[in-house]
Amino acid sequence: MNVLSNPRSTADYQAMDAAHHWHPFTDTADLAAKGARVITSAQGVWLTDSEGARIMDGMSGLWCVNVGYGREEIVEAVTRQLRQLPYYNTFFQCTHPAAAEFSEALAQVAPPHMNRVFFTNSGSESNDTVFRMARVYWDCMGQPSKKIFIGRHNGYHGSTAAAASLGGMSGMHAQSGLPFPGFAHIDQPYWYGEGRDTGLSPEEFGLARARQLEAKIDELGEDNVAAFIAEPIQGAGGVIIPPESYWPEIARICRERNILLVADEVICGFGRTGSWWGSETYGVTPDLMPIAKGMTSGYQPMGGVLISDRVAGPVMEKAGEFYHGYTYSGHPAAAAAGLASLRILQEEKLVERVRDVLAPKLATLWGGLADHPMVGETRTRGFLGAIELAKNPATGERFGEEVGAGARCRDLCVANGLVMRAVGDTMILCPPFVITEDEMDDMAARARKTLDDLADQLTREGLM
Ligand SMILES: *Cc1c(COP(=O)(O)O)cnc(C)c1O
Repeated sequence: MNVLSNPRSTADYQAMDAAHHWHPFTDTADLAAKGARVITSAQGVWLTDSEGARIMDGMSGLWCVNVGYGREEIVEAVTRQLRQLPYYNTFFQCTHPAAAEFSEALAQVAPPHMNRVFFTNSGSESNDTVFRMARVYWDCMGQPSKKIFIGRHNGYHGSTAAAASLGGMSGMHAQSGLPFPGFAHIDQPYWYGEGRDTGLSPEEFGLARARQLEAKIDELGEDNVAAFIAEPIQGAGGVIIPPESYWPEIARICRERNILLVADEVICGFGRTGSWWGSETYGVTPDLMPIAKGMTSGYQPMGGVLISDRVAGPVMEKAGEFYHGYTYSGHPAAAAAGLASLRILQEEKLVERVRDVLAPKLATLWGGLADHPMVGETRTRGFLGAIELAKNPATGERFGEEVGAGARCRDLCVANGLVMRAVGDTMILCPPFVITEDEMDDMAARARKTLDDLADQLTREGLM
């Protein structure tokens, strides 16, 4: 089937969508009035829309298509699996080859102290599983009072009720009366946004933010705290890269206070930071690691939790059955996609490519944008990047919210043939690992042109 020979027009799709599709994280009435962009196909790092425009995907879909679009190996693996066994459950004393093989492959790339995976269908579900599993763990350890989770303001762990409670997105919390009781939050290690005016150096600021965890544990009582959860690098919050001092201090506090450390690897996992895991990049050994996104490179929906021997041992020994699971846990087609994506990462040495080629080049290219008159700061780590838009780069003064500089910049960027996402006035980037070096130069040129266009537009409107 050729998707490009589609009989319907852009307007038809937009009308159907506007009438019947409620979009996630979208003002759906506003979008219905404007009309959604219709993406019809993709190859490598390039999307094609229903009008035939080619757009470079600087976000890997939604932080997931790490091995790029159009990978026949994955399509083949999923097709073969669907023919042979499209579905069977893993509840009732059964497994299937795809789930067994993928769990072994995951254990081989996981840190040495993690040898088991619990399969879910998304990052949000993975964090709900973390919530259940950590509580059962402390019950098994004879410390049932250890129930509270500590997360971070502006952290993101997904959109289900427990995952949104673990996260610290104020808009999400305000809309549904979250977090639930039993969730606490500390401040994020966001130097550009919250650290520059403190009089502390970035490293001192990182330590101060980490030590809020210690203070919070004291406030709540060590015997009441189950776990601390954080993304090694915050993604949805705006690619917030912690100072180097931050993670070792967090790890020390979790160890000394006997609380579980959960590294949410949904974005950082599978090579994004230049090693297999973000926690590995920062030299910490978590007790639980929720994974998703890059797990199948987005070719099938799937998530999971990588479980340390420390947690798995007591739970398996004392709890017996863990009353938890999803109909599609370990789905054969998703496991086949995951295994094929993992083999591509290994055979094409893409994690090493991120570390040795892509990360240094992105650091150079984004460093080169830092002198632009619209830019307050650029930062990168691994193959993640951010650009902080500023009204006055010298002072870091931002545009007012009413200007909507980030949203304008995002729209101009797409018009220039590149997808970057805006988080407030922070432009974020997360490209596929198969991008060529020439394409990276092209990407940086499109980003610079976008910043020029933004400066022109705001000047024309008298906003800067
Ligand atoms: C996207 C994300 C999630 C949620 O994953 P879904 O698959 O959207 O449910 C959880 N944690 C982090 C760090 C994420 O970036």
